[in-house]
Amino acid sequence: MNERRAGPPQASEHALGGQRGHEVPKVGALRIGCIADDFTGATDLANNLVRAGMRVVQTIGVPAAPLAAEVDAVVVALKSRTIAPAEAVDQSLAALKWLQAQGARQFYFKYCSTFDSTPEGNIGPVTEALMDALGTDFTIATPAFPDNGRTVFKGYLFAGDVLLNESGMQKHPLTPMTDANLVRVMQAQTKKRKVGLIDYRVVARGAQAIGERMAQLRAEGVGVAIVDALSNDDLLRLGPALAGMPLVTAGSGVAIGLPANFGLAPSSTAGALPAAPGLQAVVSGSCSLATNGQVRHFIEQARRPALALDPMRIAKEGAQAVARETLAWARPLLADGPVLVYSTAQSDSVKAVQGQLGVAEAGAMVEHCIAAIARGLVAELGVRQLVVAGGETSGACVQALGIAQMQIGAQIDPGVPWCHAQAQAAGGAGIRIALKSGNFGTADFFTKAFAAQDGGA
Ligand code: ADP
Repeated sequence: MNERRAGPPQASEHALGGQRGHEVPKVGALRIGCIADDFTGATDLANNLVRAGMRVVQTIGVPAAPLAAEVDAVVVALKSRTIAPAEAVDQSLAALKWLQAQGARQFYFKYCSTFDSTPEGNIGPVTEALMDALGTDFTIATPAFPDNGRTVFKGYLFAGDVLLNESGMQKHPLTPMTDANLVRVMQAQTKKRKVGLIDYRVVARGAQAIGERMAQLRAEGVGVAIVDALSNDDLLRLGPALAGMPLVTAGSGVAIGLPANFGLAPSSTAGALPAAPGLQAVVSGSCSLATNGQVRHFIEQARRPALALDPMRIAKEGAQAVARETLAWARPLLADGPVLVYSTAQSDSVKAVQGQLGVAEAGAMVEHCIAAIARGLVAELGVRQLVVAGGETSGACVQALGIAQMQIGAQIDPGVPWCHAQAQAAGGAGIRIALKSGNFGTADFFTKAFAAQDGGA
């Protein structure tokens, strides 16, 4: 523990928004309880917390049981971004209650770095419900994540070099973002509280100036402040100003400045995972450009065995039959190193399949088949290190493997860490799993991932 400390914990009670005077958390107690509105966003946040020095567990939904591991932060992954606001509020409050029961001292509501929401929510309603439940009258809101090209300037969100509403997000099928002004966007979905702004000039002056601006906004009756951030330095200046704030709402970027408030500094031990010796495999249902390149690299450069899944055959013969055949193919090969099973295809062939089967039907059917294969690889063939490519595909596989909680390890590539989890499919034994969404990862990701593991895999 000692080598992970950056110095004495800073006073976390100079704070804003109520809950003053509680005791300083004991070493080893849960520091931050996070609620994320989707699965891969949860991993993104967990990854940032680990890199900043925290030991982190991510749960899939609100766990039924208490937290098993001793960690600094927990991220509860919900799927609440686009469901009805009342349902999102209920799920988020259930997550808050569980996190409170585990002893979390500060809470973090994590949403997308493009602020995905509608005038009905769900960012505003969930923020207000969490504030009410925590009895706090002030919080911040900022999706800024400069490393990912998301910056906020005078309250306007930029995606790369353009305003949010010129970035393509204005055409999003579920959450079209037609206004980049986050003060207006947040106010439209925040019914009971006034929304204000802490602009870049204040942020540039550091934590004390930010604290003074917060006090001023609170005096003016503002309940939620959008915060500008143009760089990681801005996020690191913001961090100390958030010490002791009961609720922080943000994308994953703000997390880089929080562990220092608890005396934690970046270290290699934060991401250390238990060993999970066993066979290695990759399953891929992502059809992104990057994943297509990674599949090609695995076959042509790394010259490892790979089996392509044909969606039309799955439709004809059924997912279980195809899964059985696939496992029979993999069985004799696994002892020699990682194998790949993939439905990954170029967009013209995906479109042709979708034209015949329907978009949603084709997706669900392929996910179901890959999930059955992932389960068989672990349950029947002894795979203990598994890479999954595809966001939706990952969700299906995690469910089929019977994983409820994952400890987050070091990142393989930005946004993709190795994780360790007890899997029902492994008879409750631990496995290592890496969930790679869409366009993440370099071309050699599928082989690099296994080589990149810390000792003891
Ligand atoms: P990504 O993270 O790249 O978006 P996802 O797993 O989230 O990947 O989404 C890919 C979707 O495409 C999944 O629903 C998957 O089942 C589906 N899919 C995969 N391969 C094919 C294919 N060959 N034809 C049609 N749909 C496919």
